[in-house]
Amino acid sequence: MVLPLTAETISSGHLMIGGCDTVALAKKFGTPLFVMDEDHIRQQCRRYTEAFKNLNPQSEVIYAGKAFLSVAFLRIIVEEGLSLDVMSGGELFAALRAGVPADRIYFHGNNKSAAEIELALSADVGHFVVDSFNELDMLSRMAKSLDKKATIMLRLTPGVTTSTHEYVQTGIEDTKFGFSIAEGVAAEATEKALSLDNIELTGYHAHIGSQIFALQSYEKAIKILMSFMAEMQESLDFKACELDTGGGLGIRYKLTDEPSAIEDYARVVIDGVTKEAKKHGMKVPRVMIEPGRSIVGNAGVTLYTIGTIKSVADRVYVSVDGGMSDNIRPMLYRAVYEVIIANKASKKSEVMVTVAGKHCETGDILVDNVKIPKPDIGDILCMPATGAYGYVMANNYNRVPRPPVVMVKDGKARVIIRRETYEDLLRLEEY
Ligand SMILES: *Cc1c(COP(=O)(O)O)cnc(C)c1O
Repeated sequence: MVLPLTAETISSGHLMIGGCDTVALAKKFGTPLFVMDEDHIRQQCRRYTEAFKNLNPQSEVIYAGKAFLSVAFLRIIVEEGLSLDVMSGGELFAALRAGVPADRIYFHGNNKSAAEIELALSADVGHFVVDSFNELDMLSRMAKSLDKKATIMLRLTPGVTTSTHEYVQTGIEDTKFGFSIAEGVAAEATEKALSLDNIELTGYHAHIGSQIFALQSYEKAIKILMSFMAEMQESLDFKACELDTGGGLGIRYKLTDEPSAIEDYARVVIDGVTKEAKKHGMKVPRVMIEPGRSIVGNAGVTLYTIGTIKSVADRVYVSVDGGMSDNIRPMLYRAVYEVIIANKASKKSEVMVTVAGKHCETGDILVDNVKIPKPDIGDILCMPATGAYGYVMANNYNRVPRPPVVMVKDGKARVIIRRETYEDLLRLEEY
């Protein structure tokens, strides 16, 4: 399935999500429109917590806020018992507004500003995931002046390549993220962290990439991380008690994609850590994971209205009322998607089309060469799997207002982010 859990087609041929007719949603809220299935989100959260807690009761599932984040949405994440990763002051601010318990917040980022660190220290954020020597110094200094103790993990680069787009590979040696194990920098950072005032080092973090299908990549990274931890125990007498293996589990965008199951992922991570701990004669650390995409990706769809249909050479362009402003992933990563006509969901796909956005860029193509039922102007096009890295990357190119996000459940739809207005687009201007 690329569609959310509750998706079904009713006798009228309309696509339903969360008990709501998507064609009616498009009419009521306008298009483009993000629709998110609350049951799907909750199910993914539960699958994660159950899979990991069954194998290791101490483990912690941390939702990676950058995939999708709003105050109302974070309340669901907290209700489901997940912790939260934030990468910026803005994400942290929203988390605090949503009432996410500060001790369950993990603060990431390769260039945290002094203001962001101050905000996080004042809020008593549970963990800082430290990414550089400069940050270590600044954090120690600021914690001291605020009379706080910062609990930290060091972000490491295990030097693992994954079979995903190079822009979302983060565990390789040549990356802006983390301390390199191979170059000895990670050992140096450990020694430094242990010596600094107002800093408590609990362990390590590594995030090897995103949209990963092959679980062996995690196995490899865990081997490298655990062997590094054994080295630190040996050389510095530092017994790390926490290991965060990051996020990155892939999802299905195309029907032909075959991502691994959450339950298999949990087994690989927990078994890997347990086995390696035994091998090195270490205590099994508390394990954290940070899924983002695999919690919300398939929970969301985008609804568009078809505005023009144009045949050029041997191609049919179907243009919709959104594009690179609400989904930059096709342009950024050459991401591919399926599309469905929401008001013709039971019709056969028979026409090969290219779905284009409305922006002034030739490259503003949402999906290249996809088969759909015969399209008509006014049809509602549904693009599945846009729940992650869609809205959060939305922009106002060409002064297109950002679409609203509605959460659907049991036949009810509630707006969790309203549509931007033209007035909103002027609100920062002074004239
Ligand atoms: C992006 C990111 C994640 C989440 O990745 P997904 O692919 O969305 O699961 C987790 N941890 C860190 C540090 C990240 O940068």
